Amino acid sequence: MSRNTDTIAAIASAPGAAGVGVLRVSGPAAPAIAQALLGRAPQPRHAHFAAFRDGAGELIDRGLLLHFPAPASYTGEHVLELQGHGSAVLLDALLRRVCELGAQLARPGEFTERAFLNGKLDLAQAEAVADLIAARSQAGARAALRSMEGVFSRKVDALLQALIALRVHIEAAIDFPEEEIDFLADPAVTAQLDNLRAELTGLLREAQRGVRLNDGFKVVIVGRPNAGKSSLLNALAGCERAIVTAIPGTTRDVLRENLSLDGVALELADTAGLRETQDEVEREGVRRAHGELARADAALLVTDAVHAGADLALLDALPAGAERLVLINKIDLAHATPHTEIRDGIRWLWASAKTGEGLDAVREHLKQLAGASVGEGAFSARRRHVIALEDVRAHLDHAATVLATSRAGELAAEDLRQAQHALGEITGAYTSDDLLGAIFSSFCIGK
Ligand code: GDP
Ligand code: ZN
Repeated sequence: MSRNTDTIAAIASAPGAAGVGVLRVSGPAAPAIAQALLGRAPQPRHAHFAAFRDGAGELIDRGLLLHFPAPASYTGEHVLELQGHGSAVLLDALLRRVCELGAQLARPGEFTERAFLNGKLDLAQAEAVADLIAARSQAGARAALRSMEGVFSRKVDALLQALIALRVHIEAAIDFPEEEIDFLADPAVTAQLDNLRAELTGLLREAQRGVRLNDGFKVVIVGRPNAGKSSLLNALAGCERAIVTAIPGTTRDVLRENLSLDGVALELADTAGLRETQDEVEREGVRRAHGELARADAALLVTDAVHAGADLALLDALPAGAERLVLINKIDLAHATPHTEIRDGIRWLWASAKTGEGLDAVREHLKQLAGASVGEGAFSARRRHVIALEDVRAHLDHAATVLATSRAGELAAEDLRQAQHALGEITGAYTSDDLLGAIFSSFCIGK
């Protein structure tokens, strides 16, 4: 991070006209920039009413100037916050002035990246900052806020400490070969490892709920072409998002809609029909549909009264891990009434995507499933975290196996070392530049 000694600046408020616009500066030149704009040294954490002028002394705007001296600031560096009128023209002029005075334009996420590098927050907390800004539901925002406050990170750290303690223990035993076997057979070692695995399983479950809170409960709509999948997506999303046509096979890509049903976030994906086809493009769509299904929290099979018999075979193609629902669509053509039933443990709903009859029940059931799946979800998480935790679990399981079967201390110690590494990647105790680049480049500018 060679730019760490640079002073960076960016407009932190959203583009477009607004009452107030905010410009942020961070780095060693911030106090000098403040002095130049204010005409005197600013008082720390004090709102100064200032006349912001360009190099020629021309007035740009009047607004507030706040200086947060290092290290007690968001980034840990000297930070300047300039509040002016929320006009793109004025804020651009102010940004140009700040750059003349020694700042450079910040990259996306660079303020938060500096906060991470200066130990103000760990990586999972930094990601939660972006997730908070992007939150699509009340529950998601609350969860992201908790992760930003460190709820998730503290659990990861506690696990990491327990893991390190066990690893030190086992490695010490390896150093005394004549006692190693006895030591590794000690039920206390196994008990410690079993504890770790149990806690990890709990944390993994919480993190999975956290991902659903963040991304939304993922519902994949499947069914024969022309069953009414796109019509259903449109009706539930309340706008004409997907192309609805009477020619089978037109939904070739995966279409997504994010909705918030009473504060619960849902992601709906409309896939191409699951059918064998010669058409190259459509075949790609079918391949993607299977990819979507593998990550689905729920699969909604859409069929109609005429085709239901044949289409139900698709139920077997749906992943076992996902909730399954059957929608008998087009009841307006079948002169059926909207209702719902449970058959073989699967919820069936009768509705019409065209007339809207029965769709309230569909919404209600999706909302219930989504709500139950996040439960009392305490914090937000990302897929990256879940993958790391699964990696940790695989190594701990392997360590338990080698200890139980062969008392192979070296092997167990190596598994614990790798588990520790995977766990550390969540909070950023171990990172690569690639990982940091991938995480922070997805932030917005000015955060
Ligand atoms: P998809 O291929 O499964 O995405 O199906 P579409 O949503 O594109 O719909 C295919 C055709 O069925 C279109 O002509 C729709 O207008 C029609 N359709 C969809 N839902 C209903 C419904 O509930 N009732 C009736 N009568 N027609 C429907
Ligand atoms: Zn479609």
